[in-house]
Amino acid sequence: MLLFLVVLAWYADPTNELTYLYAIIGAQLILGVIEHYLPARPEWIIRARQKTFNVILVFCLTLVALVIGDLYVEWLTAPLATLRSAAGLDIWPHHWPVLIQLLMVFVASEFIWYWMHRAEHRWTWVWRLSGHGVHHSFKKLNALNFGLNHPIEYFFILLPSLLVELTFGVGVAAAGASILTVTQTSIVHSNIRLNTVGIGWLFTTNHYHICHHSADLDESNTNYGCSAIIWDRVFGTFLDRDISEAGTGPTEPTLWEKFLMPVREPDDTSIAPGA
Ligand SMILES: [Zn+2]
Repeated sequence: MLLFLVVLAWYADPTNELTYLYAIIGAQLILGVIEHYLPARPEWIIRARQKTFNVILVFCLTLVALVIGDLYVEWLTAPLATLRSAAGLDIWPHHWPVLIQLLMVFVASEFIWYWMHRAEHRWTWVWRLSGHGVHHSFKKLNALNFGLNHPIEYFFILLPSLLVELTFGVGVAAAGASILTVTQTSIVHSNIRLNTVGIGWLFTTNHYHICHHSADLDESNTNYGCSAIIWDRVFGTFLDRDISEAGTGPTEPTLWEKFLMPVREPDDTSIAPGA
């Protein structure tokens, strides 16, 4: 219903940039209330003080993401437009129904993200360079974890959709795909008992994604799609399993240790490549 509502809100006024902000706030409020009263794992409920701190952190990291997004647009728009002309990539079907275009951007962006995310878990230098360990370091997950990433990881997170948008000159459907993705990433980190089988064929669910957050290496090296699960099904990394523990190891690093993770891995990490 949440996915349907945000897509509907965007469809009603596709050029309204504030819909992205409303989608984040609306999804977080709805999921936060359900997590409070109907948590899948009561032991994952975090104290009000920690939650307030996380909200402030996500707000600050969102500002970082906006700056990095602007930098990418400045750096990539002209070269990718040149590439589009030179390589004959001016093929985007602008005349197709906009909801079909939205799904195309979504699935294509998730394809790029699938391989980038798999690389983060495969090679130590990509894991470190991206700071991806920070996103995995939390022992308790909830909807806010969608935005709890190392600041430098936004250079990775924002790239797939911008590459699709700017290479093909997508236009308005790209904004709809971003709104769908950000809502999905909130849902898939939520501490709510959800595993909708029908939706879970194309989109990842929080059951599948929490499996990726496991402190067990074999469980963590699965379900790389953070919004779509289709590419894990195609490339054989899909796993449907209940996990016993989330995080990078038995303990959660401090905020400072998380910030330093690109240069120094916590001693008890069990899922970092090469650990
Ligand atoms: Zn990961």
